[in-house]
Amino acid sequence: MNDDEMKISVLSSGSTGNVTYIETPQHKVLVDAGLSGKKIAGLMDSIGRDINDVDSLLITHEHSDHIAGAGVLARKYNLDVYANKGTWDAMASKIGKVPEEQRYIFDPNTTKSLGDLDIESFSVSHDAAEPQFYEFHHNGKSFVILTDTGYVSDRVAGTIENADCYLFEVNHDTEMLRMGGYPWPLKQRILGDHGHLSNEDGANALMDVIGNRTKKIYLGHLSLHNNMKELAHLTVSSMMQNKDIAVGHDFQLLDTDHDRAAHLTIL
Ligand SMILES: [Zn+2]
Ligand SMILES: [Zn+2]
Repeated sequence: MNDDEMKISVLSSGSTGNVTYIETPQHKVLVDAGLSGKKIAGLMDSIGRDINDVDSLLITHEHSDHIAGAGVLARKYNLDVYANKGTWDAMASKIGKVPEEQRYIFDPNTTKSLGDLDIESFSVSHDAAEPQFYEFHHNGKSFVILTDTGYVSDRVAGTIENADCYLFEVNHDTEMLRMGGYPWPLKQRILGDHGHLSNEDGANALMDVIGNRTKKIYLGHLSLHNNMKELAHLTVSSMMQNKDIAVGHDFQLLDTDHDRAAHLTIL
Protein backbone atom coordinates (compact mmCIF):
# COMPACT_ATOMS: atom_id res chain seq x y z
CA MET A 1 0.00 0.00 0.00
CA ASN A 2 1.15 3.49 -0.74
CA ASP A 3 -0.59 6.63 0.41
CA ASP A 4 -0.75 8.34 -2.97
CA GLU A 5 -4.08 6.96 -4.07
CA MET A 6 -7.35 8.15 -5.53
CA LYS A 7 -10.36 7.25 -3.41
CA ILE A 8 -13.97 7.54 -4.43
CA SER A 9 -17.44 7.14 -2.99
CA VAL A 10 -20.73 7.33 -4.86
CA LEU A 11 -22.63 9.25 -2.18
CA SER A 12 -25.94 9.16 -3.97
CA SER A 13 -27.01 8.04 -7.42
CA GLY A 14 -30.41 7.90 -9.08
CA SER A 15 -33.10 10.01 -10.68
CA THR A 16 -33.71 11.61 -7.26
CA GLY A 17 -30.22 13.02 -6.72
CA ASN A 18 -26.59 12.54 -7.71
CA VAL A 19 -23.39 13.25 -5.78
CA THR A 20 -19.98 11.57 -6.10
CA TYR A 21 -16.93 12.18 -3.92
CA ILE A 22 -13.32 11.87 -5.12
CA GLU A 23 -10.15 12.48 -3.13
CA THR A 24 -6.42 12.54 -3.75
CA PRO A 25 -3.71 13.68 -1.32
CA GLN A 26 -4.15 17.27 -2.58
CA HIS A 27 -7.85 17.48 -3.41
CA LYS A 28 -11.31 16.60 -2.18
CA VAL A 29 -13.94 17.18 -4.83
CA LEU A 30 -17.60 16.52 -5.43
CA VAL A 31 -19.20 15.86 -8.79
CA ASP A 32 -22.73 17.26 -8.80
CA ALA A 33 -24.76 18.23 -5.76
CA GLY A 34 -28.22 16.90 -6.48
CA LEU A 35 -29.44 16.76 -2.88
CA SER A 36 -29.79 19.38 -0.15
CA GLY A 37 -26.56 20.65 1.38
CA LYS A 38 -27.59 19.09 4.68
CA LYS A 39 -28.13 15.65 3.14
CA ILE A 40 -24.80 15.81 1.33
CA ALA A 41 -23.00 16.78 4.55
CA GLY A 42 -24.65 13.78 6.26
CA LEU A 43 -23.58 11.40 3.48
CA MET A 44 -20.01 12.71 3.75
CA ASP A 45 -20.18 12.05 7.49
CA SER A 46 -21.28 8.47 6.82
CA ILE A 47 -18.03 7.77 4.92
CA GLY A 48 -15.89 9.42 7.60
CA ARG A 49 -15.23 12.62 5.69
CA ASP A 50 -15.96 16.26 6.57
CA ILE A 51 -17.75 18.44 4.02
CA ASN A 52 -15.61 21.35 5.27
CA ASP A 53 -12.55 19.70 3.68
CA VAL A 54 -14.04 19.63 0.17
CA ASP A 55 -12.43 22.23 -2.10
CA SER A 56 -14.17 21.90 -5.46
CA LEU A 57 -17.50 21.04 -7.05
CA LEU A 58 -17.83 19.95 -10.68
CA ILE A 59 -21.23 20.21 -12.31
CA THR A 60 -22.32 18.00 -15.23
CA HIS A 61 -25.56 19.76 -16.23
CA GLU A 62 -28.35 21.90 -14.80
CA HIS A 63 -31.03 19.28 -14.08
CA SER A 64 -32.17 19.51 -10.47
CA ASP A 65 -31.07 15.96 -9.59
CA HIS A 66 -27.51 17.29 -10.19
CA ILE A 67 -27.62 20.84 -8.78
CA ALA A 68 -30.28 21.00 -6.04
CA GLY A 69 -27.69 21.71 -3.32
CA ALA A 70 -24.99 23.31 -5.48
CA GLY A 71 -25.56 26.97 -4.56
CA VAL A 72 -25.89 26.33 -0.84
CA LEU A 73 -22.77 24.13 -0.75
CA ALA A 74 -20.72 26.57 -2.81
CA ARG A 75 -21.58 29.49 -0.53
CA LYS A 76 -21.46 27.69 2.79
CA TYR A 77 -18.20 25.80 2.19
CA ASN A 78 -16.46 28.21 -0.22
CA LEU A 79 -16.20 25.66 -2.99
CA ASP A 80 -14.64 26.37 -6.35
CA VAL A 81 -17.38 25.48 -8.82
CA TYR A 82 -16.59 24.19 -12.31
CA ALA A 83 -19.05 23.93 -15.21
CA ASN A 84 -19.03 24.81 -18.87
CA LYS A 85 -20.47 28.11 -20.14
CA GLY A 86 -23.79 26.65 -21.28
CA THR A 87 -24.37 24.99 -17.91
CA TRP A 88 -23.42 28.12 -15.96
CA ASP A 89 -25.93 30.15 -17.99
CA ALA A 90 -28.65 27.53 -17.59
CA MET A 91 -28.23 27.09 -13.83
CA ALA A 92 -27.59 30.72 -12.88
CA SER A 93 -31.22 31.39 -11.95
CA LYS A 94 -31.57 28.04 -10.12
CA ILE A 95 -28.62 28.00 -7.72
CA GLY A 96 -28.49 31.62 -6.61
CA LYS A 97 -25.39 33.73 -6.41
CA VAL A 98 -21.96 32.11 -6.46
CA PRO A 99 -19.15 34.62 -5.80
CA GLU A 100 -17.20 35.48 -8.96
CA GLU A 101 -13.89 34.20 -7.55
CA GLN A 102 -15.43 30.74 -7.00
CA ARG A 103 -16.76 30.40 -10.57
CA TYR A 104 -14.68 28.51 -13.10
CA ILE A 105 -15.37 27.60 -16.72
CA PHE A 106 -14.61 24.00 -17.66
CA ASP A 107 -15.02 23.74 -21.43
CA PRO A 108 -16.25 20.48 -22.96
CA ASN A 109 -13.67 18.03 -24.31
CA THR A 110 -10.74 19.62 -22.48
CA THR A 111 -8.45 18.59 -19.62
CA LYS A 112 -7.78 20.54 -16.44
CA SER A 113 -4.99 19.82 -13.98
CA LEU A 114 -5.82 20.61 -10.37
CA GLY A 115 -2.53 19.80 -8.70
CA ASP A 116 -2.33 16.02 -8.46
CA LEU A 117 -5.72 15.47 -10.13
CA ASP A 118 -6.22 15.64 -13.91
CA ILE A 119 -9.80 15.93 -15.08
CA GLU A 120 -11.05 15.37 -18.63
CA SER A 121 -14.48 16.62 -19.68
CA PHE A 122 -16.51 15.09 -22.48
CA SER A 123 -19.84 16.11 -24.03
CA VAL A 124 -22.82 13.78 -23.91
CA SER A 125 -26.19 13.58 -25.64
CA HIS A 126 -28.83 14.70 -23.13
CA ASP A 127 -31.67 17.22 -23.03
CA ALA A 128 -29.78 19.89 -21.09
CA ALA A 129 -28.01 23.08 -22.25
CA GLU A 130 -24.47 21.69 -22.60
CA PRO A 131 -24.17 18.41 -20.67
CA GLN A 132 -20.72 16.97 -20.01
CA PHE A 133 -19.26 14.27 -17.80
CA TYR A 134 -15.76 13.71 -16.47
CA GLU A 135 -12.87 11.27 -16.27
CA PHE A 136 -10.48 11.64 -13.31
CA HIS A 137 -6.82 10.66 -13.44
CA HIS A 138 -4.44 10.37 -10.51
CA ASN A 139 -1.21 8.42 -10.14
CA GLY A 140 -1.90 6.10 -13.07
CA LYS A 141 -5.51 5.34 -12.10
CA SER A 142 -8.67 6.58 -13.78
CA PHE A 143 -12.32 6.95 -12.83
CA VAL A 144 -15.12 7.73 -15.30
CA ILE A 145 -18.56 9.08 -14.47
CA LEU A 146 -21.11 8.73 -17.28
CA THR A 147 -24.84 9.01 -16.66
CA ASP A 148 -27.56 11.14 -18.26
CA THR A 149 -26.92 10.32 -21.89
CA GLY A 150 -29.24 9.00 -24.58
CA TYR A 151 -26.46 7.02 -26.21
CA VAL A 152 -22.67 6.65 -26.07
CA SER A 153 -21.00 8.00 -29.19
CA ASP A 154 -17.85 6.45 -30.64
CA ARG A 155 -15.97 9.58 -29.60
CA VAL A 156 -17.06 9.25 -25.97
CA ALA A 157 -16.39 5.51 -26.01
CA GLY A 158 -12.85 6.21 -27.23
CA THR A 159 -12.27 8.81 -24.53
CA ILE A 160 -13.38 6.61 -21.64
CA GLU A 161 -12.09 3.19 -22.69
CA ASN A 162 -10.27 0.91 -20.27
CA ALA A 163 -10.63 2.99 -17.11
CA ASP A 164 -9.94 1.46 -13.70
CA CYS A 165 -13.40 2.29 -12.44
CA TYR A 166 -16.73 3.44 -13.86
CA LEU A 167 -19.91 4.94 -12.51
CA PHE A 168 -22.21 4.13 -15.41
CA GLU A 169 -25.85 4.78 -16.17
CA VAL A 170 -28.47 2.05 -16.17
CA ASN A 171 -31.51 4.31 -15.86
CA HIS A 172 -34.47 2.13 -16.71
CA ASP A 173 -35.77 -1.23 -17.72
CA THR A 174 -37.34 -0.59 -21.12
CA GLU A 175 -40.39 -2.77 -20.41
CA MET A 176 -41.03 -1.18 -17.01
CA LEU A 177 -40.83 2.24 -18.62
CA ARG A 178 -43.15 1.31 -21.50
CA MET A 179 -45.74 -0.33 -19.23
CA GLY A 180 -45.49 2.23 -16.43
CA GLY A 181 -47.58 5.30 -15.71
CA TYR A 182 -45.38 8.05 -17.19
CA PRO A 183 -47.08 10.19 -19.84
CA TRP A 184 -46.09 9.22 -23.37
CA PRO A 185 -44.05 12.39 -24.15
CA LEU A 186 -41.94 11.77 -21.04
CA LYS A 187 -41.46 8.12 -22.02
CA GLN A 188 -40.34 9.26 -25.47
CA ARG A 189 -37.93 11.75 -23.92
CA ILE A 190 -36.32 9.12 -21.70
CA LEU A 191 -36.08 6.56 -24.51
CA GLY A 192 -34.76 9.08 -27.06
CA ASP A 193 -31.24 9.97 -28.14
CA HIS A 194 -31.18 12.85 -25.63
CA GLY A 195 -32.59 10.86 -22.72
CA HIS A 196 -31.10 8.10 -20.62
CA LEU A 197 -29.40 4.72 -21.08
CA SER A 198 -31.56 1.68 -20.37
CA ASN A 199 -30.15 -1.36 -18.58
CA GLU A 200 -29.45 -2.99 -21.96
CA ASP A 201 -27.92 0.20 -23.41
CA GLY A 202 -25.68 0.53 -20.36
CA ALA A 203 -24.54 -3.08 -20.61
CA ASN A 204 -23.77 -2.79 -24.33
CA ALA A 205 -21.86 0.48 -23.89
CA LEU A 206 -19.91 -0.93 -20.95
CA MET A 207 -18.90 -3.99 -22.96
CA ASP A 208 -17.50 -1.62 -25.61
CA VAL A 209 -15.37 0.38 -23.20
CA ILE A 210 -14.14 -1.86 -20.37
CA GLY A 211 -10.67 -3.35 -20.63
CA ASN A 212 -7.98 -5.23 -18.79
CA ARG A 213 -7.49 -2.36 -16.33
CA THR A 214 -11.15 -2.24 -15.33
CA LYS A 215 -11.66 -3.49 -11.77
CA LYS A 216 -14.86 -1.85 -10.55
CA ILE A 217 -18.12 -0.85 -12.20
CA TYR A 218 -20.84 0.98 -10.29
CA LEU A 219 -24.30 0.84 -11.84
CA GLY A 220 -25.96 4.20 -11.32
CA HIS A 221 -28.70 6.74 -12.00
CA LEU A 222 -31.47 4.15 -11.63
CA SER A 223 -34.99 5.47 -12.03
CA LEU A 224 -37.04 5.10 -8.87
CA HIS A 225 -40.14 4.22 -10.92
CA ASN A 226 -38.83 2.36 -13.95
CA ASN A 227 -36.08 0.15 -12.59
CA MET A 228 -35.00 -2.06 -9.70
CA LYS A 229 -31.50 -2.58 -8.40
CA GLU A 230 -31.65 -6.37 -8.72
CA LEU A 231 -33.08 -6.20 -12.24
CA ALA A 232 -30.44 -3.73 -13.46
CA HIS A 233 -27.66 -5.82 -11.93
CA LEU A 234 -29.00 -9.08 -13.35
CA THR A 235 -29.54 -7.61 -16.83
CA VAL A 236 -25.99 -6.26 -17.04
CA SER A 237 -24.31 -9.32 -15.54
CA SER A 238 -26.21 -11.82 -17.69
CA MET A 239 -25.60 -9.85 -20.89
CA MET A 240 -21.90 -9.76 -20.06
CA GLN A 241 -21.75 -13.44 -19.16
CA ASN A 242 -23.38 -14.23 -22.51
CA LYS A 243 -20.33 -12.60 -24.09
CA ASP A 244 -17.98 -14.65 -21.88
CA ILE A 245 -17.02 -11.68 -19.75
CA ALA A 246 -16.00 -12.84 -16.27
CA VAL A 247 -18.19 -10.60 -14.08
CA GLY A 248 -17.11 -10.84 -10.45
CA HIS A 249 -13.72 -12.25 -11.46
CA ASP A 250 -12.09 -9.71 -13.77
CA PHE A 251 -13.98 -6.85 -12.10
CA GLN A 252 -16.64 -6.19 -9.47
CA LEU A 253 -20.11 -5.12 -10.56
CA LEU A 254 -21.44 -2.87 -7.79
CA ASP A 255 -24.80 -1.27 -7.01
CA THR A 256 -25.47 2.27 -5.86
CA ASP A 257 -28.27 3.76 -3.77
CA HIS A 258 -30.14 7.04 -3.84
CA ASP A 259 -30.13 7.37 -0.04
CA ARG A 260 -26.98 5.60 1.14
CA ALA A 261 -23.30 6.20 0.32
CA ALA A 262 -21.16 3.46 -1.19
CA HIS A 263 -18.05 2.62 0.86
CA LEU A 264 -15.06 4.86 0.26
CA THR A 265 -13.00 2.81 -2.18
CA ILE A 266 -9.33 2.95 -3.14
CA LEU A 267 -8.75 2.69 -6.89
ZN1 LIG B 1 -29.82 13.00 -13.83
ZN1 LIG C 1 -30.21 14.99 -16.58
